[in-house]
Amino acid sequence: MNHFTKRLADVDPDIYAALEAETDRQREGVELIASENLVSLATLEALGSAMVNKTVEGYPGGRYYGGAQNADRVESLAIERAMRLFGASYANVQPHSGSQANLAVFLAFLNPGDTVLSMNLSAGGHLSHGAGPNISGKWFDIANYGVNGDGYLDYDDMAETARSRRPRMIIAGGSAYPRAIDFDRFRAAADEVGAVLLVDMAHWAGLVAAGLHPDPVPVADVVTATTYKNLRGVRGGFILSHRTDLVRKLNSAVFPGVQGSVILNAVAAKAVAFHEAMTPEFDTYAQGVLDNARALAATLVERDVTVLTGGTDTPLLLVDLRPLDLTGVVASDVLESAGLTANKNGVPDDPESPRVTSGLRFGSSAGTARGLGVDEFTQIGHWIADVLEATRAGRADSVAPRIHDDVRAMVSRFPIYPT
Ligand SMILES: *Cc1c(COP(=O)(O)O)cnc(C)c1O
Repeated sequence: MNHFTKRLADVDPDIYAALEAETDRQREGVELIASENLVSLATLEALGSAMVNKTVEGYPGGRYYGGAQNADRVESLAIERAMRLFGASYANVQPHSGSQANLAVFLAFLNPGDTVLSMNLSAGGHLSHGAGPNISGKWFDIANYGVNGDGYLDYDDMAETARSRRPRMIIAGGSAYPRAIDFDRFRAAADEVGAVLLVDMAHWAGLVAAGLHPDPVPVADVVTATTYKNLRGVRGGFILSHRTDLVRKLNSAVFPGVQGSVILNAVAAKAVAFHEAMTPEFDTYAQGVLDNARALAATLVERDVTVLTGGTDTPLLLVDLRPLDLTGVVASDVLESAGLTANKNGVPDDPESPRVTSGLRFGSSAGTARGLGVDEFTQIGHWIADVLEATRAGRADSVAPRIHDDVRAMVSRFPIYPT
């Protein structure tokens, strides 16, 4: 039967060609998008396994379909490993994405109309934390905190808003806030008004796993995260808690609350990610992520590029382009033509629309995963500054291709995946 033997290249040459082109694109550029990473070959194998065929609902030992023994083995291992890696008493590895993990937590604790206090999108918050078009923004009454003029989280304002708005849930964590968050201040604010504290650690879960970032698990009622960003694993989400009294509530919120069957090949790949994150090699990677993000920030500062808060405690940093009279959309396009992929990003009080923006966000996780170190990230910082200067001077067309050649030469020393 051709169905089981014919390869993708023969069955669907169009998709095959696009997939090959994507691998080449990843090979030849420097990936600086903070929400991306480069997974192991082992992860790709787990994802491409026949486990994709198995349908289960429910949890290990309590499935609704038969033939689940291997599925149970896989999911049980993923759960145990997540709990061990993060020192949690509870883990749910089924959420299809970070947003789904958050949605399940909302379902577990909130009713429509309840008040939620979260970080302003423009200060670095995430869409799933109450943005207008998201279900969280439509169904809940959203109050926001933001950052001070110096770019740091305004804890006093957060606590004051908690007192006046009395939210049922407070969310700490975001997608573009570069500094470590003081979880104790959030705990105190939540306790004062009896709110549930959710910490969303999507962007620095790998640093938490390696002990290089304050640990939210003992402090928050619930922690959500993604496996595919800094944790260097498959695309997907998971939920943790130190509270054993929440097991049933959170499990039933994921299934049958917001999801049906389990994407078991993804759960297998999550188990691989948690396993890999317990190795000394991962600790080296995590330290590299932090060192590299700081080296990149320091180089940009040295080259007079405005880095919010002047540095970072996480894998990401945010650049304000307004002093350079550039927009995020223009700068990210030129950087991409130089082989440096980053995303345009709003900055606090950004006067531009989300499609334009006044900022750029950079992350060090993917570059570090392929082996780039402080020397390379320092060089990348100079290239970024060169590109921004050339763009201002109207010389991007000549400068960007030259830098792309240098980028290609550098990354060719750090190969990804067998060819
Ligand atoms: C990336 C991210 C998510 C989840 O994203 P998905 O695209 O739904 O997986 C959730 N919260 C934060 C803070 C994030 O940065």
